[in-house]
Amino acid sequence: MDVAVVGAGFGGLGAALRAAELGCSVALFESLSYPGGCASTFRRGGAEYESGATLFAGLGDDGYFQRSLARYGLRAPVRLLDPVLHIRTPEFQLDVPSDRTAFVEAWAALEPAHAHDIRRFFARQQQLAKVLWSLFEDPTLLLPFDAKAFLRHIGTSLRYAPLLRWLGQSLGSMLDAYKLRGAKRLWSYLDSLCQITVQTTVDEAEASFALAAIDYPFRGTGHVRGGIGVLARLFAEAVVAAGASVHLTDRVREVTREADGFRLTTRRGSIKARSLVLNLLPEAAANLLGIPLSHNAELQQLDTAVRTGCGAAMLYRVVRDEGLISPEAHHVDITAAGNHPPTQGHHVFCSLSAADEEKAGPGFRTMTASTHIALPADGAMVAEVQARMRQTLDEAYPELARATVREMTASPRTFARFVGRPQGYVGGVPRRVGLSNYRSLGPTSVLPNVWLVGDTAFPGQSILAAAIGGSKTAESLTKGLAKR
Ligand SMILES: Cc1cc2nc3c(=O)[nH]c(=O)nc-3n(C[C@H](O)[C@H](O)[C@H](O)COP(=O)(O)OP(=O)(O)OC[C@H]3O[C@@H](n4cnc5c(N)ncnc54)[C@H](O)[C@@H]3O)c2cc1C
Repeated sequence: MDVAVVGAGFGGLGAALRAAELGCSVALFESLSYPGGCASTFRRGGAEYESGATLFAGLGDDGYFQRSLARYGLRAPVRLLDPVLHIRTPEFQLDVPSDRTAFVEAWAALEPAHAHDIRRFFARQQQLAKVLWSLFEDPTLLLPFDAKAFLRHIGTSLRYAPLLRWLGQSLGSMLDAYKLRGAKRLWSYLDSLCQITVQTTVDEAEASFALAAIDYPFRGTGHVRGGIGVLARLFAEAVVAAGASVHLTDRVREVTREADGFRLTTRRGSIKARSLVLNLLPEAAANLLGIPLSHNAELQQLDTAVRTGCGAAMLYRVVRDEGLISPEAHHVDITAAGNHPPTQGHHVFCSLSAADEEKAGPGFRTMTASTHIALPADGAMVAEVQARMRQTLDEAYPELARATVREMTASPRTFARFVGRPQGYVGGVPRRVGLSNYRSLGPTSVLPNVWLVGDTAFPGQSILAAAIGGSKTAESLTKGLAKR
């Protein structure tokens, strides 16, 4: 076997697909009985819920996911959303449209004293985000790139110039430059958005990452009919169609080094591979490789960065399909009263399945709601945060509270147990302000022929980033295998 991939999250799926397409023999192993990891759909008590991630960019026909599936005659059943999400706070409500002009004008109307500066800010944000997203829309431009892509970068280097001004600066300092610190409603929206994307607040977020994240509503953002697990399963099908094998319910228990490769002992057997792709957090990767973190500078550095991040506390509900915002799948971004950071249940991201998906039988829908929680979190803190989530959710969306028939919870321990993320760290490395964010602009190799993929590695969080990072990593490792 050329490549063994451990973990069928979107990072592992992206790596396995590309490595197989490049002619490698590939085996992909997953502990759970279904792929997707933090972005999967699971079944409990006769109902289907989204495990964590619920709102995805890059789902348009020309986006990475549909293009990858189309190569195998597959297509994800996607419905692009408009409005993309509903914002509910004690001060205001807003439907976030998928049209950029309408979006900017909605903010100008909500913040009339700042309308002119809001338009100026979003004009510049659009220009910069366009440059950043071009890298996602055409991943050949990401490292490692070939001579043709290098020439294209040189040819368009002037486009990168305006970005230089904001490298190493926070989004907050950019908003200051546009005189927008007083635009409290916009600030509160951007704070929540930064928290769920780049995992930190406006004042701490590295501007370029945050500017790209602000573009989420306009980048083929939608709902996968049946849940994100449908996309994960279609991706696993594509991996098989590309010639790889996919082994579900087959946890990799141990990895040992052998002559010219590695031996993997899995729940169901054993396999030898020349190269390893680990869709794991640094600590889990070190454990599997049997090396102390302190013996590997790359893993240790990443582990330290991961620990500056957060976990997630979750509420999952079955609700009656009556009186809710819309029969379509929808997302409600809720901020509680008071001047709190958008974490610990003061901010809740709530997603409802579509009425006609019948996720819990006819007439019922399911809800997944999440909030960021500081780690380590003991049982008492988790219970307190979940209680606050209920309060935030039920005050802002009382229709949902009235329609609820059943609730289930999850905590960082649940993520640690089910998707093997030590201590329950999710969402990758926070993009806090600093030039160190640009230190690794390409695939992450932690030992010879051992690569790390997923939201901890290049280029970062979200299923789109994890899958594209996996794909680019496969390109690097196959070059290495060819040389050998
Ligand atoms: C609550 C929450 C909400 C989010 N919301 C969004 C969102 O709306 N949109 C978005 O794009 N992103 C969102 N994200 C982030 C997104 O889910 C992640 O960035 C992405 O799914 C991470 O993928 P990954 O491949 O890095 O890892 P994971 O999804 O963690 O996948 C790792 C896989 O490896 C498997 N595994 C672990 N150990 C082993 C082993 N020893 N052997 C075999 N298999 C193993 C696990 O079971 C798992 O399937 C959210 C995350 C959370 C937690």
